Amino acid sequence: MLRAGTSSSVRSCLARGKGTAQALRTCLQERCATSQKRRANAIAERSLHSTIFSRPASSATALSRPQPPAPQHEQPPHVLKPSLDLPISSIDERKVAVGWDTGTWSRYHHVWLRDHCRCPECFHPITKQRLLNTFDIPPDIKPVQVTSKSEGLEVKWPSSQPHTSLYPWSWLRQNSYDPPLAPPQTIENILWGSKIQQAPPTVLYEDIMAGDEGLFKWLSSVDHFGFCFVTGVPPTAEATEELVNRVAFIRETQYGRFWDFTSDLAKGDTAYTTMALGAHTDTTYFTDPCGLQLFHLLEHSNGTGGATLLVDGFYVASILKELHPSAYEILSRVPVPAHAAGEPSALFTPAPKTGYPVLRHQDGELFQVRWNNDDRSVMRGLEPALVEEWYDAIRKWHKLLTSADSEYWVQLSPGTAVLVDNHRVLHGRSAFTGKRRMCGAYLGMDEYRSKLAVLTEKYMPSALESEFAQQSSVNGRSIWNPLL
Ligand SMILES: [Zn+2]
Repeated sequence: MLRAGTSSSVRSCLARGKGTAQALRTCLQERCATSQKRRANAIAERSLHSTIFSRPASSATALSRPQPPAPQHEQPPHVLKPSLDLPISSIDERKVAVGWDTGTWSRYHHVWLRDHCRCPECFHPITKQRLLNTFDIPPDIKPVQVTSKSEGLEVKWPSSQPHTSLYPWSWLRQNSYDPPLAPPQTIENILWGSKIQQAPPTVLYEDIMAGDEGLFKWLSSVDHFGFCFVTGVPPTAEATEELVNRVAFIRETQYGRFWDFTSDLAKGDTAYTTMALGAHTDTTYFTDPCGLQLFHLLEHSNGTGGATLLVDGFYVASILKELHPSAYEILSRVPVPAHAAGEPSALFTPAPKTGYPVLRHQDGELFQVRWNNDDRSVMRGLEPALVEEWYDAIRKWHKLLTSADSEYWVQLSPGTAVLVDNHRVLHGRSAFTGKRRMCGAYLGMDEYRSKLAVLTEKYMPSALESEFAQQSSVNGRSIWNPLL
């Protein structure tokens, strides 16, 4: 997700840019163009691997290809009949091997292949659920024949359970686990600092309400930047709620469903005051913090202040990693407990109670920032030897979060809403006077990602990385979607 290349090139572009808005826009467009191009190339390359395998079908050529390193005590009894221009395949006692044009072999256990058959008997094409009874598969099942076909690998199963399966090449490649053939990233985050103000991502309210293409544009922007403005929103709570509902159903919390609030301490949280709020993410005290939030300032009269602050947590994390790798490591490792206890009827803490690290990773990639120093509970789980080091790490993190290079300040006005990825972008506000009425709502991360995945299949099927995406779809939804 977090790509150093992206980060440094956009950062240097942002840094270069005493730049005009145009320069930044051009840079971001170049980034988008580059990433799309890279994506297109990757897809083209993959389909090349899987469908345009330009290799003569002579056995001599087949032998010149790498042999599967799996135990070769016996020669594969059923040698592939390598067809022209296709990957080759072979069977041994336990696995089927597929030889790609890159010289790599992927191996698939027989039981794994049988279990993943996606014919209509084994996998429901509409519900996308397994129909096959996995536990009926004999543990020693072994195909009687594998054939390389242009549509994919055809596997014939023994007569005890006669059956024919077909696995598209791109699907086999995508799901190769021995070895894993990591597919190239399909989404690139565009990291940003304060200069994003020159050209912040923005879509029109009418486009979002008019159809799914506008909605896709909005959610894609949130996916790339971690936030996106919507302009031309009627300045009412009702219109704002309709806008939120375009994404997903609202995630209700102790603050209610759709909020429409002012500085009256109606709820026991500093959000309901006139105080300044430093950059933070919300609901760090939940096991699963709210995924997105939408804000819409409906009114600010008889006063000043109340500017909105946005900070790209992934951008700041990338700088912390570069400048202070040991601080980054501590924030990625030490869990931080949190609580919400301002409401008389509530006392939220995450499970496990020790909480989660500020920077959360999966497979080495940063996927979530959780940071609200105000909601932090007692650091009782810290190893004594780490106490000073941990405070030093959060000091460095705080300093970068609050640097002029990171902070994007924007004065919102009625008619402009902003949707923010609460797992990436931190928000805050300056103190204010007068009457400030804000409305909005939380959305779950899963609901947002589901909507984005459906729209991606509809409007950017190339991202599915499967030439079967179109052919094998029912109602526009493919059984070969790599997310299944
Ligand atoms: Zn089947």
